[in-house]
Formats: sequence, C-alpha cells, structure tokens
Amino acid sequence: MDRLMVTVSGVRGVVGSTLTSQVARDFGCAFGTMLGAGKSVVIGRDSRPSGPDLQQAITAGLLDTGVNVTSLGVVSTPAAALMTGKLAVDGGVIVTASHNPRQYNGIKFLQPIGTGLTGREAMKLKSIWESGEFAQVRDDARGIESRDDTAEQRHVEDVLAICDTETVTSKRFKVVLDSVNGAGCVATPALLEKLGCQVIHLNAEPDGNFAHDPEPIEENLTELCDAVRDNGAAIGFAQDADADRLAIVDENGRFIGEEYTLALSAAFVLSKRKGDIATNLSTSRMVDDLAARAECKVVRTPTGEANVVAGMFAENCILAGEGGGGVIEPLVVPVRDSFVAIAYVLQYMAETGITLSELVEQIPAYVMLKTRRPCPEGAIERIIDATREAFSYQLEARVNDSDGLRIDFDDAWVSVRASNTEPIMRIMAEAPDAGDAEALVAEVTEIAETVTGLEE
Ligand code: MG
Repeated sequence: MDRLMVTVSGVRGVVGSTLTSQVARDFGCAFGTMLGAGKSVVIGRDSRPSGPDLQQAITAGLLDTGVNVTSLGVVSTPAAALMTGKLAVDGGVIVTASHNPRQYNGIKFLQPIGTGLTGREAMKLKSIWESGEFAQVRDDARGIESRDDTAEQRHVEDVLAICDTETVTSKRFKVVLDSVNGAGCVATPALLEKLGCQVIHLNAEPDGNFAHDPEPIEENLTELCDAVRDNGAAIGFAQDADADRLAIVDENGRFIGEEYTLALSAAFVLSKRKGDIATNLSTSRMVDDLAARAECKVVRTPTGEANVVAGMFAENCILAGEGGGGVIEPLVVPVRDSFVAIAYVLQYMAETGITLSELVEQIPAYVMLKTRRPCPEGAIERIIDATREAFSYQLEARVNDSDGLRIDFDDAWVSVRASNTEPIMRIMAEAPDAGDAEALVAEVTEIAETVTGLEE
C-alpha cells in the first residue's frame, strides 16, 4: 500500500509520504464542509507518535469551516465513538490506522451514533475532498476548540453497567493482557481491575512503539501465549492498536482463533437474552449454530462495520460483530468494542465455572479457508454468474448476493467477492473439515480461472 487509500473505512497512508499534514487538513476541511458551519465533532487518536500532528491538522481544517472540535486525547476507538453520543455531537474523527504497522496512520470519520460513515456518506466526503472546494468561514466565525478527558472512564463505566461485576469479581481471574502499546493501554487495565482480575499487562505503554505487528492474529501473539502459560493465567487477551478488535488465548496458552471472539460473546449473550445477531458474510457459521440452538437467527450483511450496524438496527438484533475479533454491543456503543468482548467472555467463564478451552469445545468447530487472487477489472460479475450457475443444481443451497456471492449449504459455505480496496478477489469457504473447505475453494477457483483465463 504505497498510495493514499481513501475508502468507505476512511483514509489510510504512510505518514509523511502519502499521508501528510496537508492531506489531513484538507480532509478536516472536507468533513467540515460536509457537516456545515456551527456543527460540532469529537476527535480522538490512537497512540501512534504521528497522531498529535495529524490531529492538529484535521482540527485546523474543521475549525476553518466553522465546526467546533472537542479533543478526547489518546482513546480507544469505542471510547471515542461513545463520546459522539455522550456529547450529542454531529460526528467524530479518530486518527488511527487500526492494525496497520507503525509507519501508517489513518483518519476514520464517524456518524453521530459513533459508527463509521455509510458508503454513501464516505463517497460524498471523498468527492468534496477531491474537488478541493471547501466552505471555509471568516476568521470571526471559526469553530471553537475544547478538550474532554472523560471518554475512557465513561466507556469503562458503561461496559461495567451491563455486566454482573460481583460474579466476575468473585473468581479473581488471572489475566494476561497485550495492548501492543496501543490505545487499549489507557483504560483496559482499569476495566479488568474493576472486574476483580489480577492483571499481567504486556506492551503497556501507549507510545505507539508496537512491540509486534499490531494485527491480533496468531503469528503476532507468541509473547502473549507464552505469558499465559508461564503465569498460569486463566485467559489472555490481545487488542489491536485502537482497541476495537480482540483476540483470545486459552488457559493452555493456545490461540483459539479470532472467529471465536464473536462466537463466545454470542454464546454468552444468547444464554441471557433471546434475539437475533447481525454479522457480515465472511464470518464463521459458528454464530449460526449458536443462534439456531437458541431458536434465533443470524442476519448476514455485506462486509464493513457500517453495513453490519445498519443490519443490526434494521432487524433489531441484540448483538452484532465481525469474524476478525469485533464484537458490537448496541447497549454500549454501535462499534466493535474489545472492552465489551473482554467483559462478556470473563462473565461467561465466571457463570459457567468452566475453563475457556472447555467453553470453546462446546461450540461446533469449523475449518475456514481464505484465499486471494488477482481479479481483472470487470471480471467479478462474470465469475459470480458462473459460480451461481455451477452450484444451481444444489436446490437446497441458499444464495446471498448482497456482497459478491455466498452459497450456504447444510453445514458449509463458499463465497467469492471483489475487494473494495485492492484489485483482488477473495475466495473463502468454511466446512466441518479441511478437505471439504479446500474442495469448495478449489471449485470456485477453477471457475474463476476459466472465466478470466488466468492461471496462478
Ligand atoms: Mg482496529
């Protein structure tokens, strides 16, 4: 990724190269132009060293267009999102590149409810930015800048308010937390201490000097796995740099896979309340099995947090999330929230009185296979048509074409979709065993090769 990425998820680039102070200021002007003079926003940032300068540049652009800006300091993405509602502002900005390495940074724009912009709003913002025509105001009409340091504390309070803290506290869980020197360092230990945990905190300085690649996936979490084992901890948690995603390590020091964060949270919530769950088309069907057990259903939406949240509200779901370790609890704030996931998994362990690995065993296991290959422009529609045709003899299969194509069978699924950000397609499958998942991916890959005439 050497060029500046401007997508529905926001702006992302290499600091000082593609993402400069001028780009940040222009995006501040563009967002301010879109909102209009007199409106108000909050702005927060993760712990990257480039954060303060970029935040200042965006703020200057917003003030120039007559928008008032409240700075939240270094905060997690869910805490920043929560503040849009607490302060009843018209939008928000977070300076973060989420799980990308240190040389990157990014800008994420929020709706008044705290969720990222919808696809339509993001396209509008992009076109204002591209036009360079910003509605700057006279000096005496500039926005007003203020500061609010309560985001993290309020977020922790709201998460605790939906938990049974007494039950969790009585267990005195020993927990290892890896915050990767990101925004999660600030308040996650406070949450765990309020839940009565003994906390061993790895990579605990919010200075943005990531001790490992901040994406919370297995290859980056060996230190956490070792620390759980060495300390005899009950569980290990890993956050990404803006603390919206969470990965989990069991009491044996085994990384359980990021798909389990939503699955365990869903299992816990469904043990308390009945209701549907929203998730995207690439998320494991473990959630479907859990929902079916509770006689509830799963609402499948196109990829992208804003789409999942829109589906959650449209269908009155009680929980939502994404397979990459993102749990969305509408009772707190409608964005992915590692704090909620931590609290729910701990309460689930406390109430059932069994270990994390035993809880994992209670959930039907699948093998998920994700592949990517080049996708010539315009080819995806033909690949989707050919794939649909190839599987059409399977009458019981359910087809969802709201984001590429996903075909669900009794206990497996396969999907193909074009990436929103790169000239590639993703072919994925999930089945009870690896051989079946591989066979499904191979079948669709062959169709794609035939259609495009491209070989690996
Ligand atoms: Mg993130």
